[in-house]
Amino acid sequence: MKIIQICTEFAPIAKVGGLADVVYGLTKELVETGVEVEVYLPKYSFINSLPSNEIKTYKFKFGNRTHLITSLSVDFKGIKVNLVDSSTPLFHRTSPYSKTPQTDIDSFLFFCRATLEILATKKETILLHLHDWPTAIIPQLLKTHFPNLARGSLLTIHNLEFQGICTKKDLAQIDILPTKEMADIEQPLKFNMLKSGIQLCSKLTTVSNSYANEIQTSQYGWWLQDVIKENNYKLHGIVNGLDSLYWNPLVDKYLHTPFSPHMPTSELLQAKHHNKRALQKQLGFPISHKPLIISVTRLTSQKGPDLILHAMKLAKKLDYQFVLLGSESTPKMKMMFDKLEKQDNIFIDYTYNEPLAHLCFGSADAILIPSIFEPCGLTQLIAMRYGTIPIARKTGGLQDTISDLETGFLFNDPDEAAIDWVMHRAMNYFSNYPESWEKIARNGLKIDSSWKLPAQQYTALYQEIILS
Ligand code: ADP
Repeated sequence: MKIIQICTEFAPIAKVGGLADVVYGLTKELVETGVEVEVYLPKYSFINSLPSNEIKTYKFKFGNRTHLITSLSVDFKGIKVNLVDSSTPLFHRTSPYSKTPQTDIDSFLFFCRATLEILATKKETILLHLHDWPTAIIPQLLKTHFPNLARGSLLTIHNLEFQGICTKKDLAQIDILPTKEMADIEQPLKFNMLKSGIQLCSKLTTVSNSYANEIQTSQYGWWLQDVIKENNYKLHGIVNGLDSLYWNPLVDKYLHTPFSPHMPTSELLQAKHHNKRALQKQLGFPISHKPLIISVTRLTSQKGPDLILHAMKLAKKLDYQFVLLGSESTPKMKMMFDKLEKQDNIFIDYTYNEPLAHLCFGSADAILIPSIFEPCGLTQLIAMRYGTIPIARKTGGLQDTISDLETGFLFNDPDEAAIDWVMHRAMNYFSNYPESWEKIARNGLKIDSSWKLPAQQYTALYQEIILS
């Protein structure tokens, strides 16, 4: 039995956010525990210079056309990754998701059908693990076009907001006739790929228990709450892990001074101080013992950008330094942050900057994560592993992985009053109760957020599918 991960992100070769880390980390752990597993990913044009072990070209007929499809197999750190390409410019882009939703619909529908066609030539016993809306049409394809291809499918929802809304004409490109079950709830004349996947997959998972409960409510369900409720007999919450080698402060090449949770407290604090000084120097901040707060995030509405902005406005009053590393922002969002008064204790970088992210995690005193919703969240897990205390909204995976005053600071409401309250509270601990602050950081360092347990939980679900 081989597990086939079908996905649109894979760290670090095609990464926008946590999904990429999750597919890489889970697959690596599965391989290490002896599970046979392969990955299928689109061959985006920005992926280059990977040595391929095998190139195969196929001709498949679907959607009234003959398609020339190439599969490049790559050995990526012991993981077999199959990059699926089209002879047309479908995957020509600079990031996994294009700027126009229609391009994504066309390219991911193609990717799903092409991947199943390739798998069908191999005649192996397989189980499919699907990730988010771009692959959620696959259970429908299995039902109507490939009934004997796989032993079943597990669909993981990493973010319910994006659902793949398409038309009858779009689906015709891969010979799918829309059904009543696929009709979108908000726009009944359109079709919803995620809704289809939720109903037809063998098992459904999401990335924390709290999010599994939240998506069955109208507040977090994005109109799919009733469909999810009807299917909750097969729904499970599995919290994401972290790649223990990549996110390891002892061997992290981007840190000025490496450190380990097993060091005596005084040594560990000294290493964090060295990193903090290095970051302050690099960013042109005054060198000081003032608290240093970071935010490492995509700057989208999900992540509470206006609440981050509010915390930055408080920096002067509460006397802390603030680094915002925020990617994926719109010009409007940038304008909002650029209006902030220029100060020598605030720094903003709008890029996706892996080295700076690592140095931030290894240097900061706290990270602010005021998400409006958060399926799991990785930045709080990374921060805790690097001795940086999360200050986060009590929702989804943040609620499941942080405990108030034990490993971080939690607040309830997504509003400015709550930010005022939590920042005052956290800064009071930092200044007046340093021993408690250190204990909270130490508790976070002790947490096992490896992939070991989640990989076992996924393996158990794969087994259940096979036995059912
Ligand atoms: P999401 O998947 O919703 O973006 P997560 O917290 O699950 O949020 O994962 C975010 C991942 O992306 C983490 O590995 C984080 O370090 C990284 N990341 C987010 N924004 C940036 C950025 N601007 N620069 C570098 N890394 C970033």
